[in-house]
Amino acid sequence: MTEPYDVVDVIITKRDGGKLSDPQIDWVIDAYTRGAVAQEQMSALLMAIYWRGLDDAELNRWTDAMIASGERLDFTGLSRPTVDKHSTGGVGDKITLPLGPLVASFGVAVPQLSGRGLGHTGGTLDKLESIPGWRAALSIAEMTAQLERVGAVVCQAGAGLAPADRKLYALRDVTGTVASIPLIASSIMSKKIAEGTSSLVLDVKCGTGAFMTAPGPARELAATMVGIGEAHGVHTVAVMTDMSTPLGLTAGNALEVREALEVLAGGGPPDVVELTCVLARQMLDAAAAVLERTAGPEAFRLAGQLREADPAEHLRNGSAMDVWRAMIAAQGGDPDAPLPVAKHTQDIVAASDGYLTRLDALQIGVAAWRLGAGRARQEDPVQAGAGVVMHAKPGDRVVAGQPLLTLHTDTPESFGRAAEALEGAWTISGTRPQATPLVLDIINLLPASKSHPADRQDLINNNGRRDPD
Ligand code: URA
Repeated sequence: MTEPYDVVDVIITKRDGGKLSDPQIDWVIDAYTRGAVAQEQMSALLMAIYWRGLDDAELNRWTDAMIASGERLDFTGLSRPTVDKHSTGGVGDKITLPLGPLVASFGVAVPQLSGRGLGHTGGTLDKLESIPGWRAALSIAEMTAQLERVGAVVCQAGAGLAPADRKLYALRDVTGTVASIPLIASSIMSKKIAEGTSSLVLDVKCGTGAFMTAPGPARELAATMVGIGEAHGVHTVAVMTDMSTPLGLTAGNALEVREALEVLAGGGPPDVVELTCVLARQMLDAAAAVLERTAGPEAFRLAGQLREADPAEHLRNGSAMDVWRAMIAAQGGDPDAPLPVAKHTQDIVAASDGYLTRLDALQIGVAAWRLGAGRARQEDPVQAGAGVVMHAKPGDRVVAGQPLLTLHTDTPESFGRAAEALEGAWTISGTRPQATPLVLDIINLLPASKSHPADRQDLINNNGRRDPD
C-alpha cells in the first residue's frame, strides 16, 4: 500500500513546533495501529508532542483518530439516560463500588468499563473479583440488557475499544512520554467516548498517591479532558479531589469491598461517603443536563427529579444497596457470600501520643501492593485478602502503642518489604492539624441548569481552559 504521507515530515513538523493537519493526524494514528509507522518513528513523534504539545484542534482530531481506530458502543437505545464516571486513580479509591448502584437507584444507567490495577493503585475489577462467582467479562448484549434491567454494570473494557491507545500507551510507558497532558487526556477520553456514554464525570486526583501530584497540572488535565468531552458531544464534568491521604480506612481488594458495603448500608468512613455523594450529585446533574437538551416534557420531568434527588437518602434507605445486590447477582456473584480474608496480619503501632497529621497515600499504596493486593505486570495474580487497614486518619488523636495500621497478606514474607515502604509514611504531632478539603475544585462548562447548545457555544472551543479565577 502506498502511504499518502512520509512520517518523517510529520515528525519534523511537530519537532519544529508546527501544526499537524487533520489528514496527517488521521493517517499517522491509523498507519501506526496497522504497523505501517514503526515504533521508533512513533516514539519520535510522541517525544515531539511531549515538548511541543497539541493545540485544541489537533488534540480533538488526535482523540477522534484514536476513537476511530476501534468500535464505538451506542447506548442511545436504552430507556434510561447514561452517565459514566472515571477516576484517574488513587489509593483506597473504592468509590466506583457504591457510586454506580447509588446513581442507578435514581433511574440512570451507569455503564462502567474498568480495568485491572497496575502498580500502587488498585483496579476496580480486582476488587469486584474478590466476590465469589463475580465475572468481569460481559458481551455488549449482556451489558446492555443489564443496564436496562438493573441500571448499573461494572465490566471489563473489550479489546475493540480504541486499540490505537493500547499500542500508544505501551509505547509511551517505555519512552518517557506518559506525563504529557494532551497524551494523557486523549488516551483517557478516547476510551471513555468510545464507550458510548452521553455524559461523564471525571474524578481527577491530585496528591502523592495520584498521577498528578500538584494542583496546577491536575487542573489543566481536568480542564483539557472536559474540553475534549464537550467537543465530542459527551457532557463532561471534572471534580478535582485530594489524594495525598488514602481514601477511607482500607487499601486492598476484599478489604475495600467490605468498606464499600458499609457505605451502601448507610455507614462507612466520612470521606468515602462525602466523595460518593459529591460524585453522585455531579452524575445526576450531568444526566439531567443531557435530558434537558432533548426538550421533551417527559425528559424535563425526569431531569427535574434528578436535580432534586438526595444521594445520601438512597444510601440510608437501602435503595443503593438493592441495586448493588442486583448488579452483583446479574454478573454471577453471590452478594451474601463471605469475602476472602488474608491468612496473616501484623499491626504497626504508634510510637508516641498526639495527633496524626499526615498519612502518605503513595506509601500506603506501595505497602498494599507489596503485600499482594496489586501487580507489577498485567498478567500477575493478586491476593483478594491482602492490603492495609488504617486505624487512624489525619486529625485523629492517637496514643503510644495503639495500632495505626494492620497489614494483611497470605505471604508473610512480604511484611518486611511492606514495612520498609511505610518508613516515614506518617507524622504524629502535639498540635491538631487544620482540616483540609477533599474536593478541591469542580470544572463544569455548563451553567447549573442552562444546558441548551446555544448556551454552550462560547465555552467549548478552547479545550475547556477556563479564565483564571
Ligand atoms: N490512564 C490512561 O488511560 N491513559 C494515560 O495516558 C494515563 C492514565
